Amino acid sequence: MIDMQGVYKTYPNGVTALNGLDVKIDQGEFVYVVGPSGAGKSTFTKLIYREEKPTKGTVKVIDYDLYSMKERKVPKLRRQIGVVYQDFRLLPQLTVYENVAFALEVIEENPNNIRRRVMDVLDQVRLKNKARFIPDELSGGEQQRVSIARAIVNHPKILIADEPTGNLDPDTSWEIMHILEEINEGGTTVLMATHSKEIVNTIRKRVIAIEDGMIARDEMKGDYGYEF
Ligand code: ADP
Ligand code: ADP
Repeated sequence: MIDMQGVYKTYPNGVTALNGLDVKIDQGEFVYVVGPSGAGKSTFTKLIYREEKPTKGTVKVIDYDLYSMKERKVPKLRRQIGVVYQDFRLLPQLTVYENVAFALEVIEENPNNIRRRVMDVLDQVRLKNKARFIPDELSGGEQQRVSIARAIVNHPKILIADEPTGNLDPDTSWEIMHILEEINEGGTTVLMATHSKEIVNTIRKRVIAIEDGMIARDEMKGDYGYEF
């Protein structure tokens, strides 16, 4: 599903964020990405949905070679990858329903199918009863659930969550984790960058630690491994 070999990324300002990174992730895995700030975690996840291109090395995601792929195929790749951010990034003037429907790639679907698909994902994140609310009327956890619904409405093969619980209290964080686990059980590969020692050490999954732009540690049912 994701295969990176000898990946380097140097930004135009000369900062090298990835420094010979090798990693393989199979379809259906749940992977935590941990490591100190500035280690290269965001750059690693940005390469996967091709927000950034590698300076050197092989990056294969789904069936695409991201180094040589044509620009015009990027939207097709992105449609198969859902992304969830720490700060939700919802459109404030749209309702919950509209935020999710807006993200739906509509290819000749009739309006009833669109409505059903949006309501199905809202049901999955247990927000069907708040479809008409706007983000300001929701708690942080509810807003994050809307952003998850938006990320999965196209049934992506990969879900990337960049510190999805970073702005949430502990109870709400566990709720979000259970939703991410359910999505993973449905077959979606989940990559979650996190600084939550408690979550990583409680819900045990594969742990990839990135330090200085390289994989410092890669363990099945791994430990968070840091004191911060
Ligand atoms: P992390 O997510 O682990 O905090 P990042 O991938 O964001 O790490 O950053 C790795 C390094 O790359 C840091 O030194 C950061 O300052 C630098 N960096 C990240 N994005 C950019 C960018 N767009 N331009 C220049 N430098 C960047
Ligand atoms: P149920 O299947 O449980 O009956 P509904 O179809 O009544 O659910 O929808 C649940 C919520 O979503 C309701 O608040 C409804 O008004 C709202 N909703 C449904 N479709 C739309 C739409 N197209 N635009 C905005 N809100 C909608």
